Amino acid sequence: MTEPKVEVEIIKQTNHDELEQIAEEIRKCNKCWLHKERTKTVSGEGPVDADIMLIGEGPGKQEDQEGRPFAGRAGELLEELFAAVGLSREEVFITSVVKCRPPNNRPPKKDEIQTCNPYLQRQIKVIQPRVIGTLGNHAAENLLGKAGIGRLHGQKYEYEGYVLIPLYHPAAGLYYPALKAEMIEDMKRLVKERKISK
Ligand code: SF4
Repeated sequence: MTEPKVEVEIIKQTNHDELEQIAEEIRKCNKCWLHKERTKTVSGEGPVDADIMLIGEGPGKQEDQEGRPFAGRAGELLEELFAAVGLSREEVFITSVVKCRPPNNRPPKKDEIQTCNPYLQRQIKVIQPRVIGTLGNHAAENLLGKAGIGRLHGQKYEYEGYVLIPLYHPAAGLYYPALKAEMIEDMKRLVKERKISK
């Protein structure tokens, strides 16, 4: 009989391979217009067995250059929020609703989000996080069908059987530092939900 610990490791490796397969498909993807101007795709990063999955809007300029999510100043603020609630970036899987940079940092269009959505759905299915946090208006709207992050943030919703908490986009804390206190409270809620659902 296979030891449970060995089984867990086998499942983890299989899921890791599946995430790699998705990333490889994204690297070759030309299904929407966004592939034309991208430098690198940004499929996401983090542990395959992450309890927390954060979903942003799409890569910005620096992310497009480096091929990793939240590589710039917004990423630094995100790490500041993590630190404030005792989380580390290495514990969280971070991705976005589109995996290629929209030109001039415009919001992704509905058809681009819809075309890219199967990749995100597959990532969620592999990771099966205990709690999902959306970052910013577009990510919340895409998953919940509700707009207005000022009203939605920090509240608990259900999405396809997962707990989902909309969060402000970290860039909001750069433009409006007064929001940071609320952003930390929202992040605390996320961590609390992770513990509750364990
Ligand atoms: S944004 Fe998504 S669907 Fe569009 S080209 Fe990039 S990976 Fe493909």
